[in-house]
Amino acid sequence: MILYTVTGKAGNEGFLDIAKSGDITGKNIYVNMTNRCPCNCVFCLRHTKELLEGSDLWLKDGEPDVSTVLDLFSKYDLEVINELVFCGYGEPFERLYDICKIVDELKKQYPALKVRVNTAGLANLIYEKDITPELEGRIDTVSISLNAPDEKEYLELTRSKFGIKSYESMKEFAVLAKNYVPNVVMTVVDHVMSEEKIAICRKICDQLGVELRVRPFEE
Ligand code: SF4
Repeated sequence: MILYTVTGKAGNEGFLDIAKSGDITGKNIYVNMTNRCPCNCVFCLRHTKELLEGSDLWLKDGEPDVSTVLDLFSKYDLEVINELVFCGYGEPFERLYDICKIVDELKKQYPALKVRVNTAGLANLIYEKDITPELEGRIDTVSISLNAPDEKEYLELTRSKFGIKSYESMKEFAVLAKNYVPNVVMTVVDHVMSEEKIAICRKICDQLGVELRVRPFEE
């Protein structure tokens, strides 16, 4: 499933193929383009083999190319949607340059289209350079999973392949992205994290000059 909407239900029923989503007016449309991710988070649904094999969000036929994704979009009027969100069971920025091509095409047709990327914020480690200038004029919101109040806990949770430097790089990515992206937010999940730790994360976000969004916990 490449393009989908979110239903608010738990598990597999939480995601609905755009073709089955009916009227998409006012909805967020999610774009799922990769299974790749530099992290291996302890809480990630990717670990549950049954869930992966049964999940429509696992791209069993590999990554769709740019023209496949654009073909899918051509069937819909994106004028009416709320936001386009690059998301899914992998790290969207593993496809950074393809995202750029897709957004460039779509924004030609829909200049007011709002585009968000939900990310682990490790793209500068993936590409071994600062990629944030690529986001200018393309991405309206970057939502980064902060996950933890310090680098040690972050690594324990995310098991990032880049090791202990991941946390600092993720925070630096947020600061650099502010130069090119109108909305940069960091997220933590309510209940999964204690109030004390959320307070520390809030302080970190204040220092970085980005908004902290506490996402509600979903079973
Ligand atoms: S960053 Fe997201 S997709 Fe990657 S392992 Fe963590 S939860 Fe899963």
